[in-house]
Amino acid sequence: VERNVLLSGNMQKSAELFAKACKVIPGGVTAHIKYFDPHPIMMEKGNGSKLYDVDGNEYIDYLLCYGALILGHGHRQVFEAVTKQMVESGTTIFGTPHKLETTMAEKLIELYPGIEMVRYTNSGLEATLLAIRTAVAYTGKQKIAKFEGHYHGGYDQVLVSVNPDIDKAGESSAPKAVGESRGLPDYYLENTIVLPFNDLTATEKILRDHAHELAGVILEPIQGGFIPADQDFMTGLRKVTEELNIVLIFDEVKTGFRLSIGGAQEVYGVKPDITALGKVLGGGFPVGAIGGKKEILMISSARGGRDILTVGASNSGKQAPLYHSGTYNGHPTILAAGLATIHVLEQMGTMDTLFANTQLLRKQLEEVYKFHGLPMQTIGMGSIFNIILSEGEVKNYRDMRKVNTNLRKQIDYELLRLGIYTKPLNRYSMSVVHTKEDIERTAAAHDEAIKRVKN
Ligand code: PLP
Repeated sequence: VERNVLLSGNMQKSAELFAKACKVIPGGVTAHIKYFDPHPIMMEKGNGSKLYDVDGNEYIDYLLCYGALILGHGHRQVFEAVTKQMVESGTTIFGTPHKLETTMAEKLIELYPGIEMVRYTNSGLEATLLAIRTAVAYTGKQKIAKFEGHYHGGYDQVLVSVNPDIDKAGESSAPKAVGESRGLPDYYLENTIVLPFNDLTATEKILRDHAHELAGVILEPIQGGFIPADQDFMTGLRKVTEELNIVLIFDEVKTGFRLSIGGAQEVYGVKPDITALGKVLGGGFPVGAIGGKKEILMISSARGGRDILTVGASNSGKQAPLYHSGTYNGHPTILAAGLATIHVLEQMGTMDTLFANTQLLRKQLEEVYKFHGLPMQTIGMGSIFNIILSEGEVKNYRDMRKVNTNLRKQIDYELLRLGIYTKPLNRYSMSVVHTKEDIERTAAAHDEAIKRVKN
């Protein structure tokens, strides 16, 4: 699809609004991921499984705010919980500790096998950042390791080898650290070690070579939300990190509440030392959290340690705790939305129906592509999947890079015109409010999109 090709005649207002945005916002978007050629679609309303743009077009939404909206748009119980919290407390936020922080922490401890204590942040990015700082503080070692192709948020230490140019990234069994952004200090490239996902032998070798300097390993248990780790890989990674005193961090920002209510750690039966959460946890509002072993998380306890910021605080000689703060951490309105979301997900049968519907959509789509004689597979777990137009095995970043995305992109653009929304080439997330009718319409739209692209 060429640049400057209007998405269609009836997206004129989107195009105009985007042009206006470009005058005051660099690139017209406030997050890189929100852009696509020739212009993103400007949305105006949401309702259940649907989004409506400024030109009045309706879409079945599979982006769902990058997976955050597991209950769809405007779920009644979330709206009610948020309203009740604000009306009854008389404020949007206390700016002090409050009981919902404990209620949510208790819930996360109940649901996540690896969580014994919890701290809140305002985004997934901040959660993985805090997880990494905690690993460094706990072990006293300096470097961290991440997997090629894994995303943990947009900050220096992990903006490394997320989508690297393979020509610069070296051998697949010993990937080189490649920076993802202008402005990354060399320090981070030197201190972030890159690992090959789903290759236990090569990963183990790199970890053993660097064990003396590695504080932690962070990974997305399901890369990009759709390429699952092999069970043996996960079990082996847990074993070797434990042996080498390297903190194992599961970034469950995407997989939390989506792969199962207790995340990937519940499905794999593997307990990380630290878990990062976000997205679904906020019920559609910005949030993040880390949870993990008490022994490790207690390193950020302010009690008993020296208060490092209070003016005039005496230095009692004790070591300062790991510093973690934030004006909005543990925001009561957001925690109320998150608790309401979890409450809905915990209702009998809700997750089972969500997974069954996701499977149904995957099956129907696979049948449509088969009917048209196009090689295609859906890959994923739980309530997220992706469409891969190839039959080759996809286990990691390098496999993904071999997939030709041209055809998928053309189909995705037709799908936007046909009222199926996900960002071109993005994965599909399902919600509990997507209906069988939505699924049928989506399969029919794919059928039509393929016909249009073929002609
Ligand atoms: N980690 C993973 C696995 C994610 O998918 C994301 C966001 O897409 C993040 C971290 C960053 O979360 P946020 O966008 O809330 O900062």
